[in-house]
Amino acid sequence: MSEAVAVAVAERFRELYGADPDGVWAAPGRVNLIGEHTDYNDGFVMPFALPHVAVAAVARRADGVLRLHSADIEGGVVELRLDELAPQSDRNWTAYPAGVVWALRDAGHDVTGADVHLTSSVPTGAGLSSSAALEVVVALALNDLYALDLEGRQLARLCQRAENVYVGAPTGIMDQTASACCETGHALFLDTRDLSQRQIPFDLAAEGMRLLVVDTRVKHAHSDGEYGKRRAGCEKGAALLGVDALRDVPFDGLAAALERLADEEEVRRLVRHVVTEDERVERVVSLLEEGDTRAIGPVLTEGHASLRDDFRISCPELDLVVDTALSAGALGARMTGGGFGGSAIVLAQAADVDTLTKAVEEAFAAAGFTAPRVFEAVPSAGARRIS
Ligand code: ADP
Ligand code: MG
Repeated sequence: MSEAVAVAVAERFRELYGADPDGVWAAPGRVNLIGEHTDYNDGFVMPFALPHVAVAAVARRADGVLRLHSADIEGGVVELRLDELAPQSDRNWTAYPAGVVWALRDAGHDVTGADVHLTSSVPTGAGLSSSAALEVVVALALNDLYALDLEGRQLARLCQRAENVYVGAPTGIMDQTASACCETGHALFLDTRDLSQRQIPFDLAAEGMRLLVVDTRVKHAHSDGEYGKRRAGCEKGAALLGVDALRDVPFDGLAAALERLADEEEVRRLVRHVVTEDERVERVVSLLEEGDTRAIGPVLTEGHASLRDDFRISCPELDLVVDTALSAGALGARMTGGGFGGSAIVLAQAADVDTLTKAVEEAFAAAGFTAPRVFEAVPSAGARRIS
């Protein structure tokens, strides 16, 4: 994130609103290293922040008006009155930043208005949380400008509420927490039950490794409905096993739990994924803390098999990335995010990255798929003020 971006965003703010912004803030997108579909089961996740960020220039207003502009969306400045903000009243991109203002005010914080101009380098709809980046950058700016003194994890909660209630999208707490709380060179080990968190060193470059994100650029149409079904299936599993959430099924009690679910083939598979996935997160944490980054590769690959075979949310494009990367020498690979499209991650020796990228691109062309977008994910900083 260069100084030049902050200057350009502030300059555009001046053109739009005819005055200087009070400051410029940035908040990143994220990828989840491991811990998929565990967040709504009170389990573990392990995201890290991308170098890709939403950047917002913001100024306070005292007159109950919110003005919003995105460089990345056609159309001019949108003007809203704070006392008219209402959940699910807005189907446009403006619902994300307006939802944050609504959530802050609904929680009793005296926010009296703002002018906002933003732009983002987080690809949208690729499972990299461009929506959370947008929410968190606005929340952090308002936190500073109104001296609200909220911590990252509190801002994340408010942003989640904005997305769940105001926008109307059911999401867990991972994305906003990652954007708000991640640190450079670390992955964030997050317990989604009590939101306790630990920064785990994840400095790939120092160990001669790199991590690629492969955005398949597909989003299969049935993905939202399938998400709902998986979620409901997990809740049914917890109810049948008599626990609050699948998080409460211990790894060493898995065999017994699966036996109790002998007549529920579909639920059994979901339970097996969630319980083994929580264990994989804990294994990755231990390996990274021991400094054995290379050894996490096979754990990532195991996670993919579990999502593909037990949770059944992969798709031909994601499987092709994983299979091709592994054949071309990757240390590990898995789909990341909700599934049925979006992105996969590939852990590789730095020296193998070019060969791997070419192999994946060629495999996509040969299969007749849309060309994927491949980029490197360097564990980067969480939300911050940049000027
Ligand atoms: P994801 O978070 O996985 O990228 P979502 O569907 O949750 O996908 O969020 C994408 C939405 O966020 C976009 O459709 C748009 O409404 C909003 N958004 C993301 N980036 C921008 C941006 N730069 N400008 C305006 N709106 C954005
Ligand atoms: Mg999102």
